[in-house]
Amino acid sequence: MKRTSRDIRTANRYEVLRQIIAASPTSRQELAAATGLSLATVATLVGELLDLRMITEVGFEDSAGGRPRGLVAVNASGGALIGVDIAETYVHVELFDLGLNVLARAEEDVRPGESLPEQVVGHVAAAVGSVVTQAGIEGARVLGVGVSVPGQVDRATGTSEYAPNWDWHDVPLLELLTEHIAYPLYLDNPLRASAVAELWFGAARGSGDAVVVNLGTGVGAGLVLGGGLHRGVSNSAGEWGHTTIVLDGRLCRCGRHGCVEAYVGASGIMLTLRELSADSALLHPEDQTATIDALARGVRGRDPVALKALRDTVRYLGAGIADLVNLFNPEVVVLSSWVAAALGDPLVTEVRAAVARHALPRPMAATRIVLSPIPTDPVCLGAATFALEGALQSVGQRQAKRTAAPARSRTAPPS
Ligand SMILES: [Zn+2]
Repeated sequence: MKRTSRDIRTANRYEVLRQIIAASPTSRQELAAATGLSLATVATLVGELLDLRMITEVGFEDSAGGRPRGLVAVNASGGALIGVDIAETYVHVELFDLGLNVLARAEEDVRPGESLPEQVVGHVAAAVGSVVTQAGIEGARVLGVGVSVPGQVDRATGTSEYAPNWDWHDVPLLELLTEHIAYPLYLDNPLRASAVAELWFGAARGSGDAVVVNLGTGVGAGLVLGGGLHRGVSNSAGEWGHTTIVLDGRLCRCGRHGCVEAYVGASGIMLTLRELSADSALLHPEDQTATIDALARGVRGRDPVALKALRDTVRYLGAGIADLVNLFNPEVVVLSSWVAAALGDPLVTEVRAAVARHALPRPMAATRIVLSPIPTDPVCLGAATFALEGALQSVGQRQAKRTAAPARSRTAPPS
């Protein structure tokens, strides 16, 4: 797809707004320095964002010897954004102001066997309704809803093309959601959402090259390369969870054998535990969350089975992350999602040692391995930023239509 000048203008407007959200208040000069855009371009884009009431003027700062510089800040109450994290075991929904502060959140459990599209859509609709009511805001102020669903998605059509854990194929997810949700909807997957969240607000801030490793029921890697999100040609980059780590190994839910996810995803960890001790008290059959929580408590209490299960898991995880370190030479590897959050620091310590055993010394020396510092659900936050991007795009389209209208009327026959 060729990028039009309108696409570039939208991307620049988004970049300027992103900088303002990350560091309010700020001056046009600082924005030009941070984005690499000219001061004139920044001034125009800031003017547009002021017109849209997404930002406000907040006074002046002295510049050494020069004229005082006007400061702008994000207008937090200028609109609301909703982020939806659909996972295999839960639906989390958060409502944000324009500064991307959480104003309300809702959670629905997705029980095993409740994975039909209509059931999942029901959970999402209920949770979205709940956050809007809790926040007490008018529906008209909701600029958009970003929806993250695991697996391969087509952003343009709003389709979940393939979700291996639910065996979904070509589910028209946004179309189904439109029957319940009146706000503009935008679709992507948790790898992209969590990578953007880390890039804007987390451990990858200011990093040109970062890998965000999602450890949940599903496993994958969000890639930030050269300062931007890497999507690949069909929006499916980062499916590291389905790269092969053991030839002819465990059966994975994607139908292939020996995938990373089959060893380090929540159900892979449960299988490792079962293989170590079939009647372990840490095992909660059919309940991944309870099992991972019990494992985390066991590790902290130095339970030998728990420690062995963690080390066995990290043998695979460390080798897999070392591949990512060798391939992408990132500044930071962020461990994200609920399994990483539950296992916490003991996991990071083990992973660092294991990656160092497999990665080449030069890229290893340049890489930090850290837990996600984002206190809320990074996928909801990232999904909300997709809604913000979409809202700016639709503003651009409306403006383009307005400017195109007089040109068409010139060729219209006189009435
Ligand atoms: Zn697989």
